[in-house]
Amino acid sequence: MEYVSTRGSAATLDFAGATLAGLASDGGLYVPSEWPRFSEAEIAGFAGLPYADLAQKVMQPFVGDCLSPARLLELTREAYGRFAHAAVTPLTQLDERNWLLELFHGPTLAFKDVALQLLGLFFEEFLARGGDPLTIVGATSGDTGSAAIDAVAGRDRVEIFMLHPSGRVSDVQRRQMTTVLAPNVHNLAIDGSFDDAQAMVKRMFNDPDMNRRFRFSAVNSINWARLMAQVVYYFAAALQLGAPQRRVAFAVPTGNFGDVFAGYVAARMGLPIERLIVATNVNDILHRALTTGDYSQGTVTPTAAPSMDIQVSSNFERLLFDLGGRDGGALSRQMAGFEQTKAMQLTNAQREGASALFSSARADADDMARTLRWAWSECAEIVDPHTAIGLHAARTADLPADVPVVTLATAHPAKFRDAVERSTGQRPSLPARVGDLFDREERYTELDGTYEAVSGFVAEHAVPRA
Ligand SMILES: *Cc1c(COP(=O)(O)O)cnc(C)c1O
Repeated sequence: MEYVSTRGSAATLDFAGATLAGLASDGGLYVPSEWPRFSEAEIAGFAGLPYADLAQKVMQPFVGDCLSPARLLELTREAYGRFAHAAVTPLTQLDERNWLLELFHGPTLAFKDVALQLLGLFFEEFLARGGDPLTIVGATSGDTGSAAIDAVAGRDRVEIFMLHPSGRVSDVQRRQMTTVLAPNVHNLAIDGSFDDAQAMVKRMFNDPDMNRRFRFSAVNSINWARLMAQVVYYFAAALQLGAPQRRVAFAVPTGNFGDVFAGYVAARMGLPIERLIVATNVNDILHRALTTGDYSQGTVTPTAAPSMDIQVSSNFERLLFDLGGRDGGALSRQMAGFEQTKAMQLTNAQREGASALFSSARADADDMARTLRWAWSECAEIVDPHTAIGLHAARTADLPADVPVVTLATAHPAKFRDAVERSTGQRPSLPARVGDLFDREERYTELDGTYEAVSGFVAEHAVPRA
């Protein structure tokens, strides 16, 4: 399988190349040159497979010759063997129509572990084949950071620099990053928002001087391998609920549009998805884009669901590319306009293509709190604030009566226990696997929110190219 950039001018890469590169050199994102497609019979044949085996089958067409089926299966077994639930991503039934897909059984309690545990192994595997050491730079609204750090801490030939917006991540999220004391881990608390931190990372990836000196890669969802790993649980959930004979809808708490784009990929691969419901909080750029075609950046409002406090959704570019006839030149002009004016209008083809599969909903603080209380009082389930926003979208969606709706439960409620307690009066306890998180030493560096401060720190601490 070959990977092309959404902006049309970067070199085509194979899977290993796209995984190690992260962002494309023309500022675009890598996507497979075509979507592999499974027949209905092939999908039916996946029913009942263990998660790691299903993962190998769904991902193999994307990985191509870069890993043999036997080696890929070893890696999926190793990655998912670290999960606390044997089913890896189990389903829970809430009522006759609503289901939760529990994606938080990994080491850092959020769905990002599902992809990052595997990505850490891919990095190690591909770096062992030679080339310069890797410098991972990422921005996190909380969950990517801890999951990425857990996945690469102590691994050979990788140094990781993780930027988080100072004071805007939960105490559990911060400690899951800052108590990892492996020497290849560098936590940077930035004075600014997640979008500011993300913009600095993008700038570093496009800085010719820094690129001459260091080999950069990305672990946020601009890295294709992450999205690929997330496609698997859409198959797993739908198969459990009767696919391919029965259509299923998904409600997805959304920030950078990575998780829900993985659902789009599953649909393109032949999984019969009735609808993908994009759930946003008041930071609703995606809801506005999908309902009116207006993709314009507002200011970020901090909420109780910080991993969704995003006003520029990087992976939306992948959807616009695919729906716009895969014309890298045209998309490049559209994105340049957005970067200049902070606003753009979707084309008719993009709007119509999106509305065929996606709908959207926006939840404010009251909607979220009411849904947290509903889940607790009616279903005896404590959900996290992000999941509550997804569930609000699921419960207000207009769907045929016989279609089950799966809400992606993106984080364990204990990760956001203050917000959960405020709404429900219940304080979820941390699962045993996080151990003595609150007694461990923390280590991080506070930096001004300027590019010079951040690039200077990276230049001083990263391992240069040979
Ligand atoms: C990252 C995250 C999201 C948003 O996922 P995207 O792939 O950025 O859309 C939602 N909920 C939680 C708990 C997260 O950690």
